[in-house]
Amino acid sequence: MTTQVQSCGIYARISQDDGTALGVGRQIDDCAAEALRRAWPVAEIFSDNDVSATRTKPRPEYERLLREIELGAIDAVVVFDVDRLTRTPSELERFIDLADRHHVALASVGGEVDLATPQGRLTARIKGNVARHEVEQMSRRLKRKFQQSAAEGKSHGVVPFGYRRLRQLDDHGRDVGGQDVVHPEEAAAVRELYKLVVAGASLRNLAKYLNDQGFKTKRGNPFQGNVVGNMLRKPRYAGHRTHANQIIGKGDWEPLVSQDLYDEALAVLSAPGRRHSRGLEPKYLLSGLGLCGRCTSVLRPNVGTRRPPSYVCPKCMKLTRQIAPVDAVVNAVIVGRLSEPSLLANLSPEPSALMDSVQARDAILGRMDSAADSFAAGEITARQLGRINEQLQTQLQAAEIRVARNQPSRVLDGMTGASAADAWAAASIDRRRAVISALASITVLPTGPGIRFSPEQVRVDWKENA
Ligand SMILES: [Zn+2]
Repeated sequence: MTTQVQSCGIYARISQDDGTALGVGRQIDDCAAEALRRAWPVAEIFSDNDVSATRTKPRPEYERLLREIELGAIDAVVVFDVDRLTRTPSELERFIDLADRHHVALASVGGEVDLATPQGRLTARIKGNVARHEVEQMSRRLKRKFQQSAAEGKSHGVVPFGYRRLRQLDDHGRDVGGQDVVHPEEAAAVRELYKLVVAGASLRNLAKYLNDQGFKTKRGNPFQGNVVGNMLRKPRYAGHRTHANQIIGKGDWEPLVSQDLYDEALAVLSAPGRRHSRGLEPKYLLSGLGLCGRCTSVLRPNVGTRRPPSYVCPKCMKLTRQIAPVDAVVNAVIVGRLSEPSLLANLSPEPSALMDSVQARDAILGRMDSAADSFAAGEITARQLGRINEQLQTQLQAAEIRVARNQPSRVLDGMTGASAADAWAAASIDRRRAVISALASITVLPTGPGIRFSPEQVRVDWKENA
């Protein structure tokens, strides 16, 4: 900021979550001293009493500060620390945008971040946004805020199912955050859920499994299938920290499942046909799974009272085929394939390919961890950490895809060989759908008018290795 500051605003906020009970008066005194040091004339003081410790409570003085900046009446702001100014990463971004547009200089006296420089802004962003968990490590005020929200049930999932949070107190008996430790009963249930997913259980059945044992969500509700699905997708159960749905490093908690089991379950959860089920058990073999031969959309069941149930294409609306004969063809073809002795040999992917891809993925995670360690130790700057993480994130995504592709498919366990027909007859519709997804894609071909059903109208494209 090279232009001379004309009129500076001081912003102070007191909140109940502040472990040091830093008063507004003290904040304003320190900010005024900082403004004096910088030779910024103080025009106005804004202060909010934000005692509810929620992140959504309106702050009238903060809003007034933003309006004054919009009007051009304030061209510099001094705060005690960045966490006095903004309470969430999105609030920080909004403030930085506003400051950019109006050339507002920003300064803090907290000693950690000087927002008047581009470097300081980046540091604030990384602290407030990208490396949210580093902030938790550094700032016990933020830590307490999260914890309080969790205790009030406001932030669903802050203490994940399978864990409980141990509170940690400092020498003065102040709450300085917590450590997630394994909740034995819930953790056992989570491990079982991953095994059930890999074995082909539906989300609905997973929810039933939890509800039958009396487990409740953290909000005290029964589990729904889609809730369980979203829960099991969380990389934290394999020990990874995430922010904004991206893995950013290793967690300080005990993983509940191995990386292998997590990867396999994720592959099953992400398989075609899962995505559309929304926790409801599909009743038909190919609904959301079979493809329209005209437009390649996924087929839906159409079940009325007057006609026999049919698969229809919801997109082009030009394909309708009765369910029973189509399913009969698919059942016969898949059982035939499962009975062939060569199948298992073909299906096992190269073990060395899996090992290589896992090692490559773990190496990237290791580099992310050591970059975070270097940043924490002050060996690299926030800007460097940001650049490193950006590059590694791209590599990590590619590596995760390679790992998923090389997973052996446990979904065929017990379904192959001489007893394939019996196993198929005994398998649930979920399991059958999972097997079909693993082996082939099924397309129902269009026909001309008046042409009767024949098995050639169902095309089976075997997947690579199948
Ligand atoms: Zn179609």
